[in-house]
Amino acid sequence: MITSAVHTLATELTGDDLPAYVYDLPALRAHARAVRDALPPGLELYYAAKANPAPPVLRTLAPHVTGYEVASGGEVEHVRAAVPGAPLAFGGPGKTEGELRRALTLGVERFHVESEQELRLLAGVAEDARIDAVDVLLRVNVPLASDELGGAALAMGGRPSPFGLDPEAVQRCLPLLSGAGSRGPLRLRGIHAHLASGLDAPAQLTVAAAIADWARKLSERHGLDDLTEVNVGGGMGVDYAHPDRRFDWAAYGKGMADLALRHPGRTLRIEPGRALTVYCGWYVTEVLDIKHSGGEAFAVLRGGTHHIRTPATKQHDQPFQLLPMDTTATWTRPWARPAVREEPVTLVGQLCTPKDVLARRVQVPELRAGDRVAFAMAGAYAWNISHHDFLMHPRPGFHYLDT
Ligand SMILES: *Cc1c(COP(=O)(O)O)cnc(C)c1O
Repeated sequence: MITSAVHTLATELTGDDLPAYVYDLPALRAHARAVRDALPPGLELYYAAKANPAPPVLRTLAPHVTGYEVASGGEVEHVRAAVPGAPLAFGGPGKTEGELRRALTLGVERFHVESEQELRLLAGVAEDARIDAVDVLLRVNVPLASDELGGAALAMGGRPSPFGLDPEAVQRCLPLLSGAGSRGPLRLRGIHAHLASGLDAPAQLTVAAAIADWARKLSERHGLDDLTEVNVGGGMGVDYAHPDRRFDWAAYGKGMADLALRHPGRTLRIEPGRALTVYCGWYVTEVLDIKHSGGEAFAVLRGGTHHIRTPATKQHDQPFQLLPMDTTATWTRPWARPAVREEPVTLVGQLCTPKDVLARRVQVPELRAGDRVAFAMAGAYAWNISHHDFLMHPRPGFHYLDT
C-alpha cells in the first residue's frame, strides 16, 4: 500500500514534475529498525550499497546498520563521503591496483578478496604503502548439496562462477595470509560468501549454516585462530508479485541466533541490499495516452524503463497503484479523454523499443489519460541500474520525504 506521504506528493506534483522518484525515509527507518530488532544483537548487519546508494538512503540506514558493503572504487569513495566513519567491506570482482590503493588510503576496514591474484595485488599495494595489517575475508564458493537451495532464483554457489574462490583455490591462498604462514600484511579474518539471491528465510538459514560449517572446518584444519568472522552474504528474497509478503526476518533472526550458539567465538554478518531498501521507493508518473492495437489496450506513460529498468531486467510486472486524477473539469481538450475500463492493459514507457514495458496485460477497473500510476518496490535496483541517457528524455525528479 502506498504511504500517505507518498500519495499526497504524487497527486500534488504537476504533470511536468513527473516522472518522479519518491522515497519515504520514515518508512525506510521503521523497516530498518524492525529488521535490526529481529536479528540477534551479536549479528552484524551490513547494507549492500549497490542496491541503492543515494546519500539520504545511506544516511537513514546508518543508525541501524553496522556498516556498508561496497563493490567498486566509486562506491568506496561515495559511501565514505556520505556516511563518514561507517565501517566498509570492499567486495566485488576485478578490483584494480588503483582501487585497492585508494581503499587502503581511505582506511577501508575489510577486503573481500575474490581471487588469488587479487590477494597478491592487495599484499603488494599494502607493502608499498607500508601498511602492516590489512583485514581480509576470502570470498568462497562454498559447495552446497544440490537440494540445499531449493528453487533459488539466482544460484551463485557450488557451480562455475566468476565470483569468489573455489575451495581448492582457498588452499593456495593460505600461504599468502598471516596466521596461516605468511609474515606479510594480510590477515585472514574470515570467510565471505554470497551464494544466491531471492531466498526465503528457511533457505537463507540453510545456506548460512553451510557457510559457517565450512569456515569452521577450514579454521580447524589449518589452525586459523584469527578466522573469527563469517559473512553469509545478502540475497534475502522480496516478492514483486506480492509486495505485502515480506522476508520473514523474525524466523531468520531466531535461526541465526541458534546458528551463533553453534559457533561460539565467531561473528556472523549479513549484507542484504534489496530487502532493506526496495519498499521505500516509488516511481510516480502519469498516463499520457491510451490506445488499442490488435485488440489489446496500451497505456503510454511519461518515463519508462530508462528510469526504472527493474521490470525489464527481471521480466516481471512492476507492482503499482493507480491514482485516479479527476481532471474532467480541467480536460480542456476538445476530444474525449482516452480511457480503458475493465480490461487488461499493458503499461509502456516512452522509449522506441518493444522492451519498454512496465507491466503486461494487467487488469484495471479504469485508466484514463491524466491518471497517475505509482510503481511500488522502486527503492532498490531501480534508478541506479537504468540506462538514463537512452533517447534523451528528461530525468525524473527526486524527492526524499522525511518528516
Ligand atoms: C549484490 C550483493 C549483495 C546484496 O544482494 P541483495 O540481493 O541486494 O540482498 C550482497 N553481497 C554481495 C557480494 C553482492 O554482490
